[in-house]
Amino acid sequence: MNGGDQTKHSHDDAPELTARRAHGKRLTRQRRLVWDVLVAEADEHLSAEAIIERVQARMPGLHVATVYRNLETLVDEGLVRRTNLGRDRAYYEPARGHRHHHIVCQQCGTVSHLHDEVLGKLPARIRSVSGFELGDSEVTFFGTCATCRSS
Ligand SMILES: [Zn+2]
Ligand SMILES: [Zn+2]
Ligand SMILES: [Zn+2]
Repeated sequence: MNGGDQTKHSHDDAPELTARRAHGKRLTRQRRLVWDVLVAEADEHLSAEAIIERVQARMPGLHVATVYRNLETLVDEGLVRRTNLGRDRAYYEPARGHRHHHIVCQQCGTVSHLHDEVLGKLPARIRSVSGFELGDSEVTFFGTCATCRSS
């Protein structure tokens, strides 16, 4: 981490994390398929529809409800992170070992990550004004991305 653009960090641990997290879990063939689809685009934020489309491309005939159920099971197991990113949309990605906050462009829908450091003293300030000690909180910010701002 060079302290530069915090929104574009790499996750080189993804393959290792994949192996470690999935190890010991008895993933059914269907669940493994959903998991593989997510890991193949680990830095993306896929909607349920996009995941269903990709899974069905690999296993034609698999019911939408089945894909959805397997997806939710992966979320329940902590392997997959579901984030609500506004407009009644949820996005899915493989869970990471560290916390991610999201910034969403309201014009093009681009989603980027922010790490905890970006929030700076915010957790301490929240504690001092409200007495709340933040738990496993993730924050989503909405705005306009650099590309949209410059066009
Ligand atoms: Zn990260
Ligand atoms: Zn944008
Ligand atoms: Zn994310």
